[in-house]
Amino acid sequence: MTLNALWVVVEPANGSLTTTSLELLSHARTLAPSVAAVTWGPGDHAAQAGEYGASTLYAIGDLAGALPGAPVAAALAALVAAGAPDAILIPNSYDGRDIAGRLSARLDRPVLTNVTGLLDEGGLVSEHPIFGGTQVVRAHFTGEGPGIVVVRAKSFAAEPSGGAPAAVTAAPVGALGATGTAMITATHIEERQGPKLEEAPVVVSGGRGLGESGEYALVEEAARLLNGAAGASRAIVDAGWVPYSHQVGQTGKTVKPTVYIACGISGATQHMVGMKGSKNIVAINKDPDAPIFQIADLGIVGDVHKVLPALIEALKSRAS
Ligand SMILES: Cc1cc2nc3c(=O)[nH]c(=O)nc-3n(C[C@H](O)[C@H](O)[C@H](O)COP(=O)(O)OP(=O)(O)OC[C@H]3O[C@@H](n4cnc5c(N)ncnc54)[C@H](O)[C@@H]3O)c2cc1C
Repeated sequence: MTLNALWVVVEPANGSLTTTSLELLSHARTLAPSVAAVTWGPGDHAAQAGEYGASTLYAIGDLAGALPGAPVAAALAALVAAGAPDAILIPNSYDGRDIAGRLSARLDRPVLTNVTGLLDEGGLVSEHPIFGGTQVVRAHFTGEGPGIVVVRAKSFAAEPSGGAPAAVTAAPVGALGATGTAMITATHIEERQGPKLEEAPVVVSGGRGLGESGEYALVEEAARLLNGAAGASRAIVDAGWVPYSHQVGQTGKTVKPTVYIACGISGATQHMVGMKGSKNIVAINKDPDAPIFQIADLGIVGDVHKVLPALIEALKSRAS
């Protein structure tokens, strides 16, 4: 290992750390002997941060309803002034991107974004998919550290190391001035049944081939019967058939389920970049030349309005 220390911004959510945070911690500990986590909010995350590889947890404390971007960037900048790591890894979430941008301005250091791979090759090397994931660009920082790296979800596996709870060190925020005045006034948690799209073992996604919005119910029913989650192509999100939270792809969610079933989806590169890491891909499309078949493990050339109801019937009869 040529890297000495990495810090990982780990985001709290509902009393736990987010899955992407745990993915970053898990990978960081394979790259550097010293891994520290940086977090905020009420709750004690030392045990979970330690379990996934952090030896130190910098705790910024309860932000009292403030948007995390400004205070977390300020606290990180103060920590860096006292001793910088090789790099700071940040999840590619809304708050993560806000923190990264503000930290970049405070430290006058660039940010590498959209990262899906990190290696130690005599220094930190990052990998970035481009052209819809058909090419991978490698990059590294030059100049003084620390590098700021924003990493996409599902780039690494979240694996506990069995480590002891991280040693907690308070990380003060300091004066923020006008930048610290933005407050969270309301939080909306979207209702859902079944597992989260990003974590579901089975994802059934629908596309424009469904024909009309009402037909998405078939996708939802198949997903429910398979204890999975329902996803979508951007075409039907843009058409207003389903909310954006269902979108899989370059500008949506990245999923890596055991089984991904694409129903009436052509397989544009922007869609495939978000699901091609799935273990088994099943595609239902009436066009035998649809690009999705190039990455499908099982291709069904047929009308989704016939194949999906037959699948649903088969699943129902299996359950009864
Ligand atoms: C910057 C950028 C970002 C993007 N980000 C995303 C993203 O994150 N996610 C995403 O999905 N897209 C994204 N897109 C859009 C992407 O390029 C495609 O336009 C989109 O994925 C197409 O969706 P679709 O496959 O549902 O529709 P279409 O491409 O129209 O495909 C519909 C498919 O359904 C098949 N079909 C039609 N009728 C039936 C039937 N009865 N039975 C079976 N099959 C049938 C057709 O043969 C066709 O293959 C992005 C585009 C850009 C430019």
